[in-house]
Amino acid sequence: MLRLPEFEYAAPATVGEATRLMHERGGKAMLLAGGTDLIPSLKRRQYLPELVVSLHKVEAMRGVREADGRLVIGALTSLDAVAAHPAIRASWPALAKAAASIGTPQLRNQGTLGGNLLLDTRCTVYNQLEEWRDAGGSCMKSTGVKCHIVLGSKRCWAISSSDTAPVLAALGAELRLVRHGDERTVPVVAMYRDDGIDYLTLQPGEVLTEVLLPPVGKWDRSAFLKLRRRGTFDFPLLNVGAAVKFGADRIVERISVVLGAVGSAPQALDAQKFLGGKQIDDAVAVAALQAHAAKRATPLPNTDSSHVWRKRMVQVYTARALKELVA
Ligand SMILES: Cc1cc2nc3c(=O)[nH]c(=O)nc-3n(C[C@H](O)[C@H](O)[C@H](O)COP(=O)(O)OP(=O)(O)OC[C@H]3O[C@@H](n4cnc5c(N)ncnc54)[C@H](O)[C@@H]3O)c2cc1C
Repeated sequence: MLRLPEFEYAAPATVGEATRLMHERGGKAMLLAGGTDLIPSLKRRQYLPELVVSLHKVEAMRGVREADGRLVIGALTSLDAVAAHPAIRASWPALAKAAASIGTPQLRNQGTLGGNLLLDTRCTVYNQLEEWRDAGGSCMKSTGVKCHIVLGSKRCWAISSSDTAPVLAALGAELRLVRHGDERTVPVVAMYRDDGIDYLTLQPGEVLTEVLLPPVGKWDRSAFLKLRRRGTFDFPLLNVGAAVKFGADRIVERISVVLGAVGSAPQALDAQKFLGGKQIDDAVAVAALQAHAAKRATPLPNTDSSHVWRKRMVQVYTARALKELVA
């Protein structure tokens, strides 16, 4: 049986109290939401925090509300609740589909939207027990200095595997972040860095409190596609979030396509450059976007399935996402 390391535990009832505790402990405290990612990571000794601050009593961070014509989702809202919410299903079906695709029913019941967005990057080397990692010469994301996936690499290539991040980035959603005595709102896409170790722009002690969806009507259609080995259970090998706004004669006025699970951050494509002002099924433009997507994606042998095949699937899934936008 894997045991948790020792740590102090606090369960404040307000955001203010949570940020105060995080501020007091500097980098030695970690936040816990549903725990479906953090608890296994602690058991594998990927982190050894002095203090774990659980957010489960902060009721203000749970649920979906409407404000100024936008849906606002509390970061502590379960993935299940996001997937089932009538207003999300009606206006942002791609987000509901992404949330419904995550893990298993138990995980979606326990896991939260905020935890999904801030999920640690993953790698077949790093996501092992401490003894296993040490036996092979620890990697740079653990306590070592080298990468076992790309030999000689100066950076870590662990993968961003969140299913909701690409779709929320494509929609242009925003994140509200609260720190002791400070608050800011950033676009989802600005939360991520293409670096397997330093993968978030979240500041020390910062709590993600809310996800702000764009005003209804910003996009006409949205899509989410996910490639994985087992359709009922697995992390993505690739996912695509996409959204489009049509002008007259179904000409693309605005389009956004973001790839996930093929880099250390969601990869926003230059879709507007290729498809803006054109029909979405313009064969030349679609082929150009597919080639651009394949260039942008860097699938590596650090997850399930062949990375060569995953690279080919990037082109296939990019084209399928466009088709879904007009289906
Ligand atoms: C078997 C299995 C299958 C899975 N399949 C998938 C999958 O298909 N797709 C997928 O995307 N994920 C998958 N996951 C990963 C995980 O279950 C989900 O991503 C889940 O949404 C994580 O949310 P959580 O609330 O449990 O996060 P936690 O584990 O509580 O936290 C995750 C990280 O986010 C930080 N954090 C959480 N909330 C906040 C906040 N409000 N403010 C600041 N920091 C915060 C925590 O400190 C921690 O670093 C899977 C996990 C398992 C074990």
